[in-house]
Amino acid sequence: MSDRRLGIYICSCGGNISDYVDVGKIIDAIKDEPDIIVCKNTMFTCSDAAQQEIVNDIKENNLDGIVVASCSPKLHLFTFRDVAKRAGLNQYQYIHVNLREQDSWAHTNDKKGATEKGIRLLRAGIAKVRLTEPLYPLKVETIPRVLVIGAGIAGLRAAIGLSELGLEVHIIEKSSAVGGWLIKFGKIYSHNRIGKKIIEDLIVEINKRDNIFLYTDTEIVEKSGSLGNFAIKLKTKDKGELLINVGAIIVATGFEAYQPKAGEFGYGIDNVITLPEFKELIDKSNGKIFYNNKE
Ligand code: SF4
Repeated sequence: MSDRRLGIYICSCGGNISDYVDVGKIIDAIKDEPDIIVCKNTMFTCSDAAQQEIVNDIKENNLDGIVVASCSPKLHLFTFRDVAKRAGLNQYQYIHVNLREQDSWAHTNDKKGATEKGIRLLRAGIAKVRLTEPLYPLKVETIPRVLVIGAGIAGLRAAIGLSELGLEVHIIEKSSAVGGWLIKFGKIYSHNRIGKKIIEDLIVEINKRDNIFLYTDTEIVEKSGSLGNFAIKLKTKDKGELLINVGAIIVATGFEAYQPKAGEFGYGIDNVITLPEFKELIDKSNGKIFYNNKE
């Protein structure tokens, strides 16, 4: 048990939550837990009036932590961090519980189960907020040099963007050629540019810049340090081992296409193929796609 003063706010979202979750039952289950000073249900917690009510509660009750159970944090994490700040509470002493996308919307046919899940989600949020401490931003000196791992389209584009910011960039590629998946592709939707040409243009652009260094046949063998100052040991084909210090690392290693087994997802059954296989068929076609000798 801790010695906290907590406020808990459960949003109904105009029925989006309360139609599928018994909010009253959740409140009954948690309101008498230790440290809870305020426990409320609000119809629209993101409304100006409800935000102001939380600000007032924090100030009047000297709350040192709040939990808001509402929609996805993607939508309102920063809204409620701002509410905490306006009330003089450190924004990191607010914990968000996703009671809509992860509960009410996911279990529209099981109110009892959704309510039990809601109680657990709230208890987890309360346990988490009890452990919060005020956090403050730090400034860290960083080396103005970036390592980009992978010389596919993402890595090459990122390198040019970083170079434009005035940073020195080292791109490493484990294979002997750059371009990743894109260089194998023909016309790309929607501009119809050829994959190989896109990569060639990026390489021309990179070669014009004296703050980008590109190494093929190169892998990382050791990494130490932390954000702002990483020490990286590279194994290159031509220059042996190299040591570089960078402030940041971008991982742009692309992806491996999943190769299903025969019969998995219908693969191998007439006309069921993978996306890379389909792209290859399109690239080889002259306006008509042929597969198994059929148009
Ligand atoms: S905070 Fe989110 S869940 Fe609550 S009313 Fe606003 S949008 Fe709906």
